[in-house]
Amino acid sequence: MICGDVNGNFKALFSRVESIIKKSGQFDVLLCVGNFFGDDNSELDAYKMGTRKVPVTTYIFGPSKPEHVPLYCEKGSEIVPNVIYMGKRGIFTTSADVKIAYLTGLSRRELGKELPMCTFEPSDCSAVRDACFRGQSEYRGVDMLITTLWPAGIQQDETQKIDVDQERLSNLLSWLAIHIKPRYHFVPSPDKHYERQPYRNLSTHQDYRECATRFIALAPVGNKVKEKWIYACSLQPISKMRVTDLLQGTTDETVCPYDPDLLMQHQPGKVVKFSGNGQYFFSTDGPEDDNGKRKRRDRDDNPERKKFDPETCWFCLSSPSVEKHLVISVGSHCYLALAKGPLTPYHVLILPIAHHQSLVKVPDEISEEIKKFKAVLKQFYASMGMLVVFFERNYRTSHMQIQSVPVPKICESQILEIFQDEAGINKIPLEVLPPYTDIRQMMLPGAPYFHAELPNGDQIFAKPKQNFPIHFGRDVLSTPQILNCEDKADWRQCLISKEEEIEYVKDFRDKFRPFDFTADADSDSD
Ligand SMILES: [Zn+2]
Repeated sequence: MICGDVNGNFKALFSRVESIIKKSGQFDVLLCVGNFFGDDNSELDAYKMGTRKVPVTTYIFGPSKPEHVPLYCEKGSEIVPNVIYMGKRGIFTTSADVKIAYLTGLSRRELGKELPMCTFEPSDCSAVRDACFRGQSEYRGVDMLITTLWPAGIQQDETQKIDVDQERLSNLLSWLAIHIKPRYHFVPSPDKHYERQPYRNLSTHQDYRECATRFIALAPVGNKVKEKWIYACSLQPISKMRVTDLLQGTTDETVCPYDPDLLMQHQPGKVVKFSGNGQYFFSTDGPEDDNGKRKRRDRDDNPERKKFDPETCWFCLSSPSVEKHLVISVGSHCYLALAKGPLTPYHVLILPIAHHQSLVKVPDEISEEIKKFKAVLKQFYASMGMLVVFFERNYRTSHMQIQSVPVPKICESQILEIFQDEAGINKIPLEVLPPYTDIRQMMLPGAPYFHAELPNGDQIFAKPKQNFPIHFGRDVLSTPQILNCEDKADWRQCLISKEEEIEYVKDFRDKFRPFDFTADADSDSD
């Protein structure tokens, strides 16, 4: 069951709930999506004393009014028996396996001021999104989303006129809703009950159907004009639904009411739009942090301060510093080279011939050739019965390197978990990106990142902060469950002799020849 603003009308709420339970049987939970407290909260005393009983486990959220803050208890504890305060944001699963995400309170950024305890930040939005996505290789949506504010855009409804105060609308919540795709989205309404026709969620890739969302705003508990304020339903959780049922359409469904660009924004509320071509970027390390304070710029990471000399670059193919004997194959824009201190004899790097910092910064023709190299490397490793992990660390590097490491087939299902474990140990927030996400569309050029592509198509992504372990990718792949060579995590500890390197390169080149598209180009020109 879900109800709107209670505003202190506890008797009206709980006696109504009791009569619904008498008629329809027990419910899992009651969720109060608006203000639980009001100006007068004296009715709560009877429940505190135990003379009246709360008939069902009740979850409350918020607060969104400063005067209610003192009435709240610690997150996770009971206000009165059977009424539990869930905090401002999070995700939980009911005993019936229904997954509920919530982000309540007001938006500091959109409100233009902070109300202690009552406001949320853009980072709260991404935290809820990340919590929804965690541990899911194929994300289909969340059963329910509860917010205090309404997502901006939802009021654009052709069939039903709906007036919503501007200050009730939040763009950050539109971002959240478009990303986490709730099947039900509940909000409190100050007056009217409103139920929108379901809208079909957008997908990040073509030919991929997503679930539909029902948006429902509930009127205040016990309102005089008898607008609907309680909603009782039994939900079948997404986790137990057949995909065909989940994706089934209804005749009244509409298109998604939110700006489709929001779906491509990896982080909420930090978009810089460039006029003209409609391209946008967002900054992961913008000058403004969530508290509106200016961040101190890390001098070492400031590109202007670094003097770049191509003569000394280890990877610019024209540079005298390149170890030419490591080069395996040279294409039009990129080349393959054996890794220094390789994890296996077939551990190679895909590198641009000219100096470019990261995959996000290279021109399209280079990224196209990188894709080609990745595709043939996959085939090459497959011919040896191996899978491949590609990873790139664009953090404290100067010349783009994509590591290509063959791994045994048997560990395919474990790789993501091991990455997540290792990230957990190092307190790195690791994200699993939806399939087919293009990292080049996601990042502001210049922002640091760690990115890996796993054999099953999963992509993982992290934003390195200070103390990001330089050998993160190697640490993971060298674990006993994958390559079992922990002594090789640091490449400097496992350098091999030049003779061995030459041997590895020759062996790779011989076996790789049938897959090497650059060789075709050579023979054509002969
Ligand atoms: Zn270079």
